[in-house]
Amino acid sequence: MERTITVFRGDGIGPEITACVLEILEAAGAGLTYEIYDVGEAEWQKHGALIPEAAYQSFERTRILLKSPITTPIGKGFRSLNVTLRKKYDLYANIRPAKSSTAVKTPFHDIDMVIFRENTEDLYVGIEKQVDENTIHATKVITRKASERIIRDAFDYARAHGRKKVSCIHKANILKMSDGLFLSIFQDIAREYPEIETNDKIIDNTCMQMVMNPNQFDVLVMPNLYGDLISDLASGLIGGLGLLPSSNLGKDYAMFEAVHGSAPDIAGQHIANPTALLWSACMMLEYMKDFACASRIRRAVDLVLEDGSVLTPDLGGHASTEAYRDAIIAKLD
Ligand code: ATP
Repeated sequence: MERTITVFRGDGIGPEITACVLEILEAAGAGLTYEIYDVGEAEWQKHGALIPEAAYQSFERTRILLKSPITTPIGKGFRSLNVTLRKKYDLYANIRPAKSSTAVKTPFHDIDMVIFRENTEDLYVGIEKQVDENTIHATKVITRKASERIIRDAFDYARAHGRKKVSCIHKANILKMSDGLFLSIFQDIAREYPEIETNDKIIDNTCMQMVMNPNQFDVLVMPNLYGDLISDLASGLIGGLGLLPSSNLGKDYAMFEAVHGSAPDIAGQHIANPTALLWSACMMLEYMKDFACASRIRRAVDLVLEDGSVLTPDLGGHASTEAYRDAIIAKLD
C-alpha cells in the first residue's frame, strides 16, 4: 500500500519507540512513506515552536498522524499539546482498546474492553475563573452535538465488530444537567441499536466494578475526564501503560498514539516498551484498511509475548527495546 503519513517523534522515550515501530512497519511490508518531525521542548528551544508549522502542514496534507509522546513543558504557559491537536483537528473520538495478553501476568484475565472517550469538551475546555480571592470555578461543558457523535460511534463500532454490550459511564446523580444530558442522549441512541445490550453506570461504581469484575465490560462510552481515568485503570488491569494504544478520530483527520506519556524517568535507557505505539500503528493500518499488515504485526507481537523470553522490564523481562523489536521482526510471517 502506498501512502504518506506524518510522524511526530516526540520526546523522552518517544524517539526510541518511534524508531523501533517504524522498523517493524518496514519489515512487515507496510510500504508507507513518512514525513517525520521533531516536536516538543527541544524543538521549542531550537526554533521557538513546540510543533513546527511544517509539521502541522504535513498533517493537513496526509491527514494521518502517528504521534509519539510529547511532554508539554510545565510552568511556561503552554497549553497541553495533546489538547491542542485534538481541538485544532476536531479529533473528537478517543478510542482505547484494553485487552489481556496471556503472556502478561496480572491478577486479571480475559479482559477485552474498548473505551470511547469524548475528546473535545467536558472540563478539558480549560475555562477556569477566579470568583474571589479564595474561590475558583472550572467549567464543564457537555453539548448534544459532541455527545451524540461519540455515543453513535461507540454503537457503530459495537455493531461493526460484533460486540454485545455498550455501557454509558457518567455521574448523572450529581451532575444532573450535564451528565444527565449525556445519559439521556445515550438512552435515545440505544433504541436505534436494539440488538446491542446497554446499561449505564456511575463512574465511582465503575471503578470498583472494573477491579471486582472487569469481564462484564465490553464497549464503554463516556465524557472526557472519566475516559482519562478509566483508561489508565484499564491499562493497570492488562499489565501497564506500555500496552494501551489509542486512536483519536475526527471527520477529516486521524491521530494514533500510545496512551502513556514520554516516561522521562527511563528515556535513553533502551528499556521502553514500544508495544502501545506499535498497536497504535496497527490501528492506523486498520484505519487505512491494510488489515493484512496489521494482523501480521499483531500475530508477531502475540507470539513474542506468549513465548515470554524476550520481554521489556515493565513486563517482567530483561530485554532491551531493540531486542524486543528484533524478536517481533523475526516472528513476522
Ligand atoms: P503524562 O502526564 O504525559 O501522561 P506521566 O508522567 O503521567 O505522563 P508516563 O510518562 O506515562 O506518565 O509514565 C508513567 C510511568 O509508566 C513511568 O514510571 C514510566 O516509566 C512508565 N512507562 C510509561 N510508558 C512506558 C513504556 N512504554 N514502557 C515502559 N514504561 C513506561
